[in-house]
Amino acid sequence: MEEDKKNPVYSRSDSSKVNLSEAEWKKILPKDVYEIARGKGTEWAFTGKYWNNKEVGTYYCAACGNPLFVSDTKFESGCGWPSFYEPISKSSVIYAPDNTHGMQRTEVMCGRCKAHLGHVFDDGPPPTGLRYCINSVILDFEKAKDAEKKYNDDKEKNKDKE
Ligand SMILES: [Zn+2]
Repeated sequence: MEEDKKNPVYSRSDSSKVNLSEAEWKKILPKDVYEIARGKGTEWAFTGKYWNNKEVGTYYCAACGNPLFVSDTKFESGCGWPSFYEPISKSSVIYAPDNTHGMQRTEVMCGRCKAHLGHVFDDGPPPTGLRYCINSVILDFEKAKDAEKKYNDDKEKNKDKE
């Protein structure tokens, strides 16, 4: 998603907490983002834009721009949603018990704006053993500049060889 100019709270560097009313969120977020972020919805498995993304880079909160996860901690879980074993920092996300749908789960929210991201389960890989199962809709991915440069350099080099 491109940075939404109508979203005045979106920032990748400002870490101050965001507290907006639901009406204000509704005004500034695209409908699909709003439904996940504020309505705690879940996208269909294997339909999101990032569940199968293997590129190197950083995942930001689509509602406020808060850095959430890096691609190093992403793994193939087979569940159909982007899965990570660890957030960027302890304050990147916050947690709440979720006992809806007859299940006992732990909800994961953005540490800056409290957008619903997904859930965390304890069946992940080492070193944490955790699986952060996150909706693609609420993630903004940016390719690492270095990785992109290396990719282009390699392409250039290979061109010389041909
Ligand atoms: Zn956020």
